[in-house]
Amino acid sequence: MQFDFDVTVVGAGPYGLSAGSHLEASGLRVRVFGDSMSFWAKTMPKGMLLRSPRAASTISDPNGDMTLEAYEAATKTPAAAPVPLSTFVSYGKWFEQKLGENVDRRSVASVASSNSHFDLTLADGARLTSRAVVIAAGIGPFFKKPSELASLAPDLASHCYEGRPIAEFAGKRVVVIGAGQSALESAALLSEAGSDVEVLARRAKLRWIGQHGWLHHLGPLSSLLYARHDVGPMGISRLVAYPQLLAKFPRRIRERIRRRAIRAAGSAWLPARLRRVTLTTGRTVTAAEAVGREVRLRLDDGSERRVDHVLLGTGYRIDVAQYSFLSRGLSSRVRLVDGWPVLSGGLRSSVPGLHFVGAPAAGSFGPLLHFVAGTEFASRALTASLVRTRIHG
Ligand SMILES: Cc1cc2nc3c(=O)[nH]c(=O)nc-3n(C[C@H](O)[C@H](O)[C@H](O)COP(=O)(O)OP(=O)(O)OC[C@H]3O[C@@H](n4cnc5c(N)ncnc54)[C@H](O)[C@@H]3O)c2cc1C
Repeated sequence: MQFDFDVTVVGAGPYGLSAGSHLEASGLRVRVFGDSMSFWAKTMPKGMLLRSPRAASTISDPNGDMTLEAYEAATKTPAAAPVPLSTFVSYGKWFEQKLGENVDRRSVASVASSNSHFDLTLADGARLTSRAVVIAAGIGPFFKKPSELASLAPDLASHCYEGRPIAEFAGKRVVVIGAGQSALESAALLSEAGSDVEVLARRAKLRWIGQHGWLHHLGPLSSLLYARHDVGPMGISRLVAYPQLLAKFPRRIRERIRRRAIRAAGSAWLPARLRRVTLTTGRTVTAAEAVGREVRLRLDDGSERRVDHVLLGTGYRIDVAQYSFLSRGLSSRVRLVDGWPVLSGGLRSSVPGLHFVGAPAAGSFGPLLHFVAGTEFASRALTASLVRTRIHG
């Protein structure tokens, strides 16, 4: 039976674009669907800087022709470190252009499986068939809101991933909840935009990444301690660089490594930008209610806050059953553990022909898959597997 495509990719973020470039180069008929880089362009705050180092901010292509440096050289963009969000989004768009007609900006409304293939319906109602499908749809649907705050109206409380423009809050009182990069960088940007900001964190003390910068400048010794992707602390960083090896670890240990490598912390360049922000640690919100156009928060020490908005930097929890475009029949056949798809070599799920890349693959292959740096491993492994399947049927 002839299908429209050998492979379709749902999502045109770093993982989808990278997968598209590798799959196309291997001779497979591929189409990547989605509005490219939209998570970065529409939900991340303007003015944000990438937390990942330059060496870990390249979207992988098969020949290494489309690196961040190649983009900067081609467009005469100054090479900055940390990388500004605007540069990274433009880099992704440039990468998309190189893929030409293999990227289609329409989004995918549904993916269902038949015996030998997948049926896809696009947002405009168009239908197509594909032998295999790669889910590269990111973490958008997975954000977590604490139950105490979940019932507040969106103009009173929003999650960082909902993309409210920082400038909207100039002159307003904002409480930011969380202790990770999203929360702390949003707090810095809000303060710089003229908001009166307090960070509330459950942790007794905030953590900062890269406090031992000198360990990165010891020549060959540093490369024994840290992989170039720089995900996780000394030692763990080296382990994280081998997703194939991590996949062989017992799940419990792999999960401990994953949590340790991505635990909540802010970049080393943030504290200086938080000087005008009140940092309150060791506190949790026990109740929240709307009072007119304000929010009243009660904290576990009995104190209260009255603010105009609560911004939640409270992270996300992977549960691929939340991808609304997966048909119920298909979703029920994907083997999950705590919401993570169980993947084998080639990032294959329990449904033949259905693959997951990006953060949902981190449960099986470790924390590198949460970051752009994991595109190289994911795209190569995926492509090798799909080429083999095509040859051997
Ligand atoms: C605040 C913040 C800062 C971060 N900083 C860094 C950093 O500095 N470095 C780093 O490496 N990582 C960083 N990350 C992690 C980052 O999210 C991932 O590295 C990266 O986005 C993974 O790429 P992706 O392609 O898997 O997902 P995404 O970039 O989210 O792309 C997925 C795309 O799929 C689209 N999509 C979803 N459903 C459909 C559908 N049905 N049809 C079509 N398209 C669909 C989405 O709209 C989205 O555009 C950060 C994350 C956050 C939240």
